[in-house]
Amino acid sequence: MHYTNFHGQKQGLLPNYLLVIIIYKLFCLVFQKNIFVIQIFNLNQMELPVLISLCIGIIIMLFMLLATFTLMLEKAYRGAIISFIFSIILPIPFFISLFISHIGIFYVPYATLSIISFILVIFLFNRKKQKFAPQTPIIQFDERQTMFSRNELKVDSDRFKAYYKENPEHKVKDDIWRSKPGLLSSESVFYHPSTFAAAKASFLAIEKLGPHIKGEPASNKKPTDPMQLSTFVKKWLKKQGMASVGITEMHSYHYYHTKGRRDTYNSKVTTKYPYGIAFTIEMDEQMMQAAPKGSAIMESAEKYLKSGVPAVQLAYFIREMGYNAQAHIDGNYEVVCPLVAKDAGLGEIGRMGLLMTPKLGPRVRIAVVTTDAPLVPDKETDIAHSMNEFCHYCKKCANVCPSKSIPHDGRKIQDKVLRWKIDSESCFTYWQTVGTDCGRCMAVCPYAHANNWLHNFIRFGIKHSYLFRRLAVVLDDVFYGKKPPIKKMPKWIETRN
Ligand code: SF4
Ligand code: SF4
Repeated sequence: MHYTNFHGQKQGLLPNYLLVIIIYKLFCLVFQKNIFVIQIFNLNQMELPVLISLCIGIIIMLFMLLATFTLMLEKAYRGAIISFIFSIILPIPFFISLFISHIGIFYVPYATLSIISFILVIFLFNRKKQKFAPQTPIIQFDERQTMFSRNELKVDSDRFKAYYKENPEHKVKDDIWRSKPGLLSSESVFYHPSTFAAAKASFLAIEKLGPHIKGEPASNKKPTDPMQLSTFVKKWLKKQGMASVGITEMHSYHYYHTKGRRDTYNSKVTTKYPYGIAFTIEMDEQMMQAAPKGSAIMESAEKYLKSGVPAVQLAYFIREMGYNAQAHIDGNYEVVCPLVAKDAGLGEIGRMGLLMTPKLGPRVRIAVVTTDAPLVPDKETDIAHSMNEFCHYCKKCANVCPSKSIPHDGRKIQDKVLRWKIDSESCFTYWQTVGTDCGRCMAVCPYAHANNWLHNFIRFGIKHSYLFRRLAVVLDDVFYGKKPPIKKMPKWIETRN
């Protein structure tokens, strides 16, 4: 198809879809008829395209320079250098018209059309494929099968013998991680006295919260409006620094059927309240970038503690209002926190098996409070589809995982539901070897980048565009590397031993 430019000259082929033709016609209309614009800028028709070209070039340059500055602040120096190079290269075609002004007349409509078409094509197609639909679990999990529970089994104790009699398939792999130095061990690969001691301090402090997770409610119930109470709880937790808060109706799959920690081992989970309040707290990006070094477990333990305190406080508050409430915090879970958080609208479970939140990805810790106080549940997140699809293409966590525990292929039926399942035993073996809870997968996840305008722009694109999801995987590899190197711990930590 040929078209006529605003000088009445025949020009080359147009892209053959209707939308672009309409935009083109509108564009020509503005150029030909808008005498007002031409008069304001005191331009003739020769100069206006040059001005537009110049403006587009400057916008692109400023965008890339701002991105450079943002990446510098993040200490993402590779990305900053590439962004700076792009800030020079990308605007060049638009600046050419400055030097050869007659080129702009022919070139600007094409360039502008290309940009608009590119944006439209990117954002017009966001088909939701069934294979990426969110899934609902069916079965209840047994806490005794978790690595933390198995790690507490004393070799040759009655519990130990009973567990491996029932689960002989785990014995060989479990013997391997038992032969390693262990979490926070001074014999481990990444032993670092200060960070390990700081992590231990946080875990010891969390243990002190244990007796406070349950309790009797006040005898007189205060009159409560469900919506007001829900809003109050959410705003209060946000005020305390929580990154996100959501409420869900509880289902049986949220609860473990049998407990597996400490003196509650083997006991059935019987306290099942109808509502769950789930909330997340951000883990510091710089601390996690050095994962699997000591700063990662120091941060991890600290955020278990800092989410545990408001969980206990919230449970006390609800009991004070006259309702039952139980906090679920590190070492004292009766629920599977990521599943509760997912249904409370806080995110989706990603390839690495963790909750992926819209703004911070997996770089969060979760706590839950279950209660019978009247509350208004939230809707599930609307990003589940796009996250599942992005994870399907991304695979960065699987590529960097030092123990090869994260699958590279698509979701499969595991425990009667379509999902990714990591190899918990090999992951835990690595933890026992290096002494930390690793977190390399979390550190490199494109969703876990800083919560700023640049990454939120990328996250917006991932959510709204099928093509952008594909493009973002490539962009992340270009700007951060296919296998980003492990960074140094923050200086104030690195200089201590
Ligand atoms: S690194 Fe990629 S594949 Fe892994 S959880 Fe994050 S987005 Fe998904
Ligand atoms: S924590 Fe480390 S070892 Fe475990 S899955 Fe993530 S990257 Fe792999």
